[in-house]
Amino acid sequence: MRKKIVAGNWKMNNDLAETEMFLVDLKKQVFPENVVVMIAPSFTNLNQAFESLREHPVTVVAQNMNQNNEGAFTGEISAKMLKSIGVNTVILGHSERRAYFMEDSAILAEKVNTALENEMTAIFCIGEELEDRKKGNHFKLIKKQLFEGLFHLSNESWKNIIIAYEPVWAIGTGETASPEQAQEMHNFIRKTIAENYSKAIADEVSILYGGSVKPDNASEIFGQDDVDGGLIGGASLKVDSFMKIVNSF
Ligand code: PEP
Repeated sequence: MRKKIVAGNWKMNNDLAETEMFLVDLKKQVFPENVVVMIAPSFTNLNQAFESLREHPVTVVAQNMNQNNEGAFTGEISAKMLKSIGVNTVILGHSERRAYFMEDSAILAEKVNTALENEMTAIFCIGEELEDRKKGNHFKLIKKQLFEGLFHLSNESWKNIIIAYEPVWAIGTGETASPEQAQEMHNFIRKTIAENYSKAIADEVSILYGGSVKPDNASEIFGQDDVDGGLIGGASLKVDSFMKIVNSF
């Protein structure tokens, strides 16, 4: 059975002291047994978060990593470095990485390969711009992102893939896809995986929705058949709103 997941993407927020405050509060919470809870702090706070949450059912995730295993790549972080501090899951292809750091499909496919070769799980983000949706190109675009980023993988690799569908027009904008729009696209993604791999693989992949998920809209979105949880930006920065979302299934 596929997993229900709520992952908090902190982006470039929370310094050492703020992370500590969040962790102290997070550790006082009671977590539902049927939900995998993840947080993705910045690189500088990953070790702190991992050590602090050792005895807690929260997975610490990186927001990015380099596609190379080592070498002269000033400022970059490798899979080996993440694994050496206990981090085994990484977000790849977030729309902010694609837009501001020129991460194209070729680079992202390499990053996925590197993550899998290092026995990591990848949360692979896909999503259309508003223009694509207005022109009715959103399904075509999502299919292209799936093909270019993931469809070179072996059947076996899919057990370490989580997909996050994040319409770019809904990220950090306060605008959310309607539950029906989310379901329609999640169902399309699952069908596309079934057509190119198998129904069994498609039925096992967790597909998260991301884009202005808040405590007051989470349960309706998570209630859709093909929505297995969420990748949460702004609302993951406060324990209170994050936990309300975690408890929205
Ligand atoms: C995100 O950064 O992945 C995201 C979905 O952000 P927000 O929830 O703030 O829209």
